[in-house]
Formats: sequence, C-alpha cells, structure tokens
Amino acid sequence: MTRILLVEDEESYRMPLVYQFTKEGYEVSAWETGDEGWEAFTTQSFDLVLLDVMLPGIDGTELTRRIRKQSWVPIIMLTAKTTEIDKIIGLELGADDYVTKPYSFRELLARVRAVLRRRGHEISASGAPQSEISDSSGRKPLLTVAGISLDDNEHQVSVRGTEVFFPLKEYELLRYLMKNAGNVLRREQLIDHVWGADYVGDTKTLDVHIKRLRSKIEEDPAHPKIIVTIRGLGYKMTD
Ligand code: CA
Repeated sequence: MTRILLVEDEESYRMPLVYQFTKEGYEVSAWETGDEGWEAFTTQSFDLVLLDVMLPGIDGTELTRRIRKQSWVPIIMLTAKTTEIDKIIGLELGADDYVTKPYSFRELLARVRAVLRRRGHEISASGAPQSEISDSSGRKPLLTVAGISLDDNEHQVSVRGTEVFFPLKEYELLRYLMKNAGNVLRREQLIDHVWGADYVGDTKTLDVHIKRLRSKIEEDPAHPKIIVTIRGLGYKMTD
C-alpha cells in the first residue's frame, strides 16, 4: 500500500484529504505541525510527502530541506499564495511539485499519481529498456525538437539522450514551446497558457522559468540557441 505523510495544520484541508486519499486506497498519516510531521518522517517510512507551506513550528520549506538531506521521497507542496510559490521555486528546495489552494482533490490526486509514476519509472528504468512509445490506445505522440524529447504520457523529458526532471510549470512551458517550435510566442501567450489567464503574479516568473529551462536544455545557457529571446515580443523555440 502506498503510504502518504500529510502535514497540514488546517483541519478543513486535512480531514477531507485523509478521507479522500483513504478512499482511493492510500494509507495516510496526517499531522498538524511541522514538528509532528518531522517526528513521523524520522520514525516511519513513506512513499510520498504532502506538505503545507505555512505550518506552526517547523514550516513546510524547512521540513522539505530536512527531508531532502536524507531522502529522495517525492514531495508535493500545498501552497496558499503566489508568494509562497516564488519562495519554493526560488529556494530550489527539491520539492517535486506543488499545488495552489484552493485545489481540487482530482488535481492533487493526478499530481500524486504522476509523481509516483515518474519515480517508479526511474527506479524500474535503471538499466532496463525504456518503455516503447505507441500511438495506439490514445497515447500522445513523442514530441522531439532540437535534441529534446518529451513524452507527455509519462511526463518525461530527455535532453540529448539523458533524462532530465522538470517541475510541472517548467514542463508545461517546455511542452508549449516545443509544440509551437519555430513560432514566436508572446509573453502574454506563454503566461496565459502556463499560469492561466487570471494569473496575477509577477511577470518575472516567466523569465525565471525560461532561465531554468535554458540551464537544463542549452549547451551554453549564457548563449541560448534553442530557446531564443525575441526582443519586445517573447520567446521562440528553434526547430
Ligand atoms: Ca497552513
């Protein structure tokens, strides 16, 4: 059985999550404070960790840092504010993904499954052949642009033959750029597509993500050739 450690101080979030994940067949160990969560983490074993950011005692970011010092267990952060997302991204804490409150349980469950699948695949793929891409049974075709391959079924990206991990927003941005390779995409278009038309955060978030993508896919990130800046307009992925 898949064991989830949940640390969330708000009962109105915690209780429904315990109920719903249990209904989906997961085993949930739920705690209110960071200290209790840390205690549970160090004394039990878990397959996935769900962490609220704002917690009494040790907060979610500190807890992530501590967990990452000793484990690669998948971590998904539950955030309440855009400023917290910036913090998570900015600190490069090593969380696998995050969802913003209010989130739907369906959305969170999809993220949980994707992260577990990705991790499971990483483990089973070590030394074993990669699963074959087939276009039957509704699978999406593999996208390949400029030495980068993106498998939307498995949420996997390889850069010149090496598998590279992209957190969700980076992944969505990369996929959108790849799907539109050769075309200039305006900044607003990219923000609308990846963060939603009602996005109210700083537009610098886009540049931060572009920078992250370049550091992972460009041979020389200081002189990008794959994702190029179109001054005054936006970005373009070369095809
Ligand atoms: Ca909280």
